[in-house]
Amino acid sequence: MTMTNSQTNLSGPTAKTTVPEKFVYFFAAGESEGNAGMKNTLGGKGANLAEMTSLGIPVPPGFTISTDICTHFNESGGKIPDWVKPKVLEAMARVEAKIGKKFGDVKNPLLVSVRSGARASMPGMMDTILNLGLNDQTVEGLAKSSNNPRFAWDSYRRFIQMYSDVVMGVNGSLLEVTLEDLKEDKHYKLDTELTVDDLKILVKKFKELVQQLTGHSFPSEPWEQLWGAVSAVFRSWNTPRAITYRELHSIPVSWGTAVNVQSMVFGNMGDDSATGVAFTRDPSTGEKTFYGEFLINAQGEDVVAGIRTPQPITKKAALSSGAVSLEEAMPEAYAELVAIYQRLEKHYRDMQDIEFTIESNKLWMLQTRNGKRTAKASLQIACDMIDEKLITNEEAILRLDPAALDQLLHPTLDPKAQKTQLAKGLPASPGGVHGQIVFTSEEAVEWKEKGLKVILVRVETSPEDIAGMIAAQGILTTRGGMTSHAAVVARGMGKCCVAGCGEVEVDYRTETMKVKGYVLKKGDVLTLDGSTGEVFLGEVKTIEPRLDERFDRIMKLADSIRRLGVRANADTPKDAETARKFGAEGIGLCRTEHMFFGADRIDAVREMITADNRMDRERALAKLLPMQRDDFAQLFKIMDGFPVTIRLLDPPLHEFVPHTDPEIKDLAQRLGQDFERLRMKIKALHEFNPMLGHRGCRLAVTYPEIYQMQVRAIAEAACDVVKAGQKLIPEIMIPLIATDKELDMLRTLSVNEVEKVQRERGVSFKYLVGTMIELPRAAVTADAIAEHADFFSFGTNDLTQTTLGLSRDDAGRFLGSYVSQGILPQDPFVSIDQVGVGALVKMGVELGRRTKPDLKVGVCGEHGGDPDSIEFFHKVGLDYVSCSPFRVPIARLAAARATLLSKKLHS
Ligand code: ADP
Ligand code: MG
Ligand code: MG
Repeated sequence: MTMTNSQTNLSGPTAKTTVPEKFVYFFAAGESEGNAGMKNTLGGKGANLAEMTSLGIPVPPGFTISTDICTHFNESGGKIPDWVKPKVLEAMARVEAKIGKKFGDVKNPLLVSVRSGARASMPGMMDTILNLGLNDQTVEGLAKSSNNPRFAWDSYRRFIQMYSDVVMGVNGSLLEVTLEDLKEDKHYKLDTELTVDDLKILVKKFKELVQQLTGHSFPSEPWEQLWGAVSAVFRSWNTPRAITYRELHSIPVSWGTAVNVQSMVFGNMGDDSATGVAFTRDPSTGEKTFYGEFLINAQGEDVVAGIRTPQPITKKAALSSGAVSLEEAMPEAYAELVAIYQRLEKHYRDMQDIEFTIESNKLWMLQTRNGKRTAKASLQIACDMIDEKLITNEEAILRLDPAALDQLLHPTLDPKAQKTQLAKGLPASPGGVHGQIVFTSEEAVEWKEKGLKVILVRVETSPEDIAGMIAAQGILTTRGGMTSHAAVVARGMGKCCVAGCGEVEVDYRTETMKVKGYVLKKGDVLTLDGSTGEVFLGEVKTIEPRLDERFDRIMKLADSIRRLGVRANADTPKDAETARKFGAEGIGLCRTEHMFFGADRIDAVREMITADNRMDRERALAKLLPMQRDDFAQLFKIMDGFPVTIRLLDPPLHEFVPHTDPEIKDLAQRLGQDFERLRMKIKALHEFNPMLGHRGCRLAVTYPEIYQMQVRAIAEAACDVVKAGQKLIPEIMIPLIATDKELDMLRTLSVNEVEKVQRERGVSFKYLVGTMIELPRAAVTADAIAEHADFFSFGTNDLTQTTLGLSRDDAGRFLGSYVSQGILPQDPFVSIDQVGVGALVKMGVELGRRTKPDLKVGVCGEHGGDPDSIEFFHKVGLDYVSCSPFRVPIARLAAARATLLSKKLHS
């Protein structure tokens, strides 16, 4: 193979490369080789360009180089394989034949755009180059053939700006400055005022600058330009901002991007030309109105770049601003645009986000895709489209993104409020909150106890900060990504969090934070927007989430479809109430240890832990009994007949005791004990690896009286509730079981205690005793364990830790690299590792049901609220998922989708 004229790196096929059969897809009226179903190969943009072309919609001809080539490119160290080239030359020849212009021709040059396009739309992630093919000769040809030198030179200067930025890595603002300087000299306000001579000067200056800055001259050969641009698109798949976006949206690195090479149409040809973007319905409210913006005599990104203020498309929208709409300025092109958008919406049966250009009054479509929308709009559009009979109930459910509902469930910042943005970090966990800043967790807790609202500001958080995170309204960290400790924990708590906000400088010593020239001291007020990652000065007003009738309608629809039950993890009456409000059908996990931390009981807990003998321990436990009984009774009442799963004490005991001498001294005084003795006792509790230490059911093997007290509290509370005439089903859950013998023993203990209480009180009620499956051994021996269990609940947090052999609290340091390098597809603590941990879940279910065919099985790890994991749990036959109260609606919707998806798979 001989290749012509290219300085870009081309390489021969490596040993393992397999050359795909077809990898260049042509599109032009009457001969489109792709279609909308080929997004994996053509990317979203390419697939839809092909589809629109087939529909007879005017689309400038071009071709798409498939996503496979991106993978080849990256695997061969950033080189375009040389077998790609002939096919591209061939496709370009077909475009030339269609248009009647030649690429690189000095008389009548064909110009192209080079556009990226991944499978999933990644707006603004990768850069597009327009007007490619221009050089000092072809620009003259274009000037003559168009009879419009200003347009030709304007296109040329735009091309140099884009190309040198995207391909040659020249900081775009440096060229922009040159342009701004010239405008200032000439007293111009707008780019459109630049004359041909101005533009010629600019082109010359730009090229000199590029030479100076890069040491390379600006490439003039069109094919060299093209290969450079194609390579740049492939490279852009791995730019930091693309990587961040991919991580945020769980897009695997292996997908790659396609490249679209498309003949140019020109919105900058004069006042009868324009460019614009539009949505077929309002993307923020969902209202059924055509919504969009355009600019006359402009190209591509001008509309979004804010160079000039764009004008509204419809007359109606223009009314308030007094601007001239497209409807008025170019009525014919507008009418065609309306006809096309309506057709596209009917064809795709979804709201479309479209891009168009008008060249000398002729409309061209450059892109269509399903439009991104707020959660509110998505519900409105789903309901409207069901009513319009455009989609079925099932389709509506399948289209909704469960995770996006999160936006609706937290208070949000009032969009109309005045605000001063200080910085922007990662939108780690949604919500809009304000509070006074503090820099330590201890202070967060203290201030909260004084009734103050605080924002916890940390460089990063660690497990020691949990109490502070609970106490804070929101969390701001300056380091760490979307899977950092702060982000994961905050999401689990449904707490607002902005993570990795690098602009903010935190100084723990002086208790200040610096950002954008502001210095904020401890106690100053900040507002966080966890949905956008923004940080604002002072208090910004919020609005409560309003769950309107559309939300209810969709939830009811989801409930009528789903098979999985949805419960909530709730430790307090407040959690339980929230859970009910969001439609939880029970509590799947009540962690009793959270009740131990209450100010009124923590000392009794500590007395119990540091007791020397069983008698002392029982004395302390007796103090706790009535408190626990009240806790449980309240939960039973709120859950009103729905099942409540109560996990007996799980964490290692040293988590409850103080560790510094002054604190221990205080405690000794309060308990009336000897300081030295207490100190030694506490020291003896130290463990090298607490996660694998003396915790869970192991506590009850050594101190059965702890579980005995808790079971008694549950049983007594149940008796009280039954006496009050209410129904209930308490489920006693034993954590961290590894062997059937453990469960056999602790089940007997529990049953004996419940029966004792029932006899004492003369009351009977139905109850279950079950276990968490959170150790691999338990999953593997689930048939034996099921002999002693009425139910299983998979504790997938610990099961993930113990299966992968990694501690969640330490994994933050390296897990990010695992995900970004594609070793793990996702953070396994966020979405269940289906092939590993998931296999154990599947095995546990199968073995358990082999022993007890109608064994009730659920999950109570964080994964219970993750849509992908829920789909998996549906498939392996769980009965229910349990998640944080705020995620209950998400789980209801995700469970309905799981049902529909598996039906689809089977039909
Ligand atoms: P993004 O993925 O960021 O939306 P696009 O590839 O859609 O990038 O390009 C951005 C804009 O550039 C388009 O909306 C369109 O206005 C303009 N553009 C792209 N290709 C062409 C073309 N062949 N002719 C005219 N304008 C184009
Ligand atoms: Mg676009
Ligand atoms: Mg656990």
